[in-house]
Amino acid sequence: MMLGIKYPTGYSCCSRCKVKGTRIQVSDDAIVEESSDSDTSTSTANSNMPGTSGMGINVRTARSYKTGRTRNRRIPIRCQKKSNHKKKRTSEKTTVVRFLDHEPCEPRTDAEALDRNFRLNDMEKPSTERHFTGTTPLMKIDGIQLVSRTPLDYMHLICLGVVRTLVSLWITPESRDKLKIQRESIENINKKSSDIQNSIPLPFGNTPNELKANWKATQARAFLLYLGPVVLKEELPFIIYDNFMKLSKAIRIGCSPKLCKSHVSLMRQLLREFVSEYHAIYGNSRMVYNIHNCLHLADDVELYAAALDIISNFVYENHIFHMKTYYLKSSTFPAAQTFKRDRKRSDLFS
Ligand SMILES: [Zn+2]
Repeated sequence: MMLGIKYPTGYSCCSRCKVKGTRIQVSDDAIVEESSDSDTSTSTANSNMPGTSGMGINVRTARSYKTGRTRNRRIPIRCQKKSNHKKKRTSEKTTVVRFLDHEPCEPRTDAEALDRNFRLNDMEKPSTERHFTGTTPLMKIDGIQLVSRTPLDYMHLICLGVVRTLVSLWITPESRDKLKIQRESIENINKKSSDIQNSIPLPFGNTPNELKANWKATQARAFLLYLGPVVLKEELPFIIYDNFMKLSKAIRIGCSPKLCKSHVSLMRQLLREFVSEYHAIYGNSRMVYNIHNCLHLADDVELYAAALDIISNFVYENHIFHMKTYYLKSSTFPAAQTFKRDRKRSDLFS
């Protein structure tokens, strides 16, 4: 939004490349295709909830990620009647836009993003063709590089995005059955995770003791890098475990101050394979914008020559409590409040 680039609806726009999404039927999902008629009708009903296009997770499912309860939930007849007036709007939700390319396409350039005339000309194109929403105040900053110097945040992208999505797919009964993951396997993974807690050193912090789709970012990170490779082994089907391990290895390289410099090409290769296999395993409808952005993650590591933890939001999130407590007295003008109180503190201690 701050960069003045269109939200990734699929027609455009990834903030890094000019990929165009593909509009697909919800039933194109490989997992859904294997399901029975009743399951398909449930999926379609869920996908018809308002506000479900774009990033691709429907409202009903997104709620279930928090509660873990999705088994055969039906929309009450009363609710169906209420939503009749939205018939036209909901009928469009049977299709979703997905990013099906496994390679990043033509990259954006900093010069293009900063060119005011280029932006204005772009905005005159049809809405499905344009990439920009307007000019941005950030363009006034001298030397700013809107494309290359706006790093992806792996805390939200990988930890809170991809990892939690993977876990929710494994534990949700409908998708779990279609992925041929045994219920006992999930119980075994939970038992292993619980048993291993006493052996984990304190510096590892808050590690998860069971599979949940509402982990905090630190829990998802600990699972991806340390716990998952151990507790998932021989419990998930090999192809799913191998796919998870590719993501785990890639992020492990990205998080290591040494490896991120010497093995960034391997990280890039692993992430491409992860995205490609993810498509094959979980289907078209799971190829959301987060998955596409995995293709660009290694570029940031290479550009900054720094580990992912250095360029992620983990650093800032650790200070949010402090900022909310000591800097913000209300929700209006947070930046101005922070600046003024920070200056006052600096004056006091100088
Ligand atoms: Zn892209």
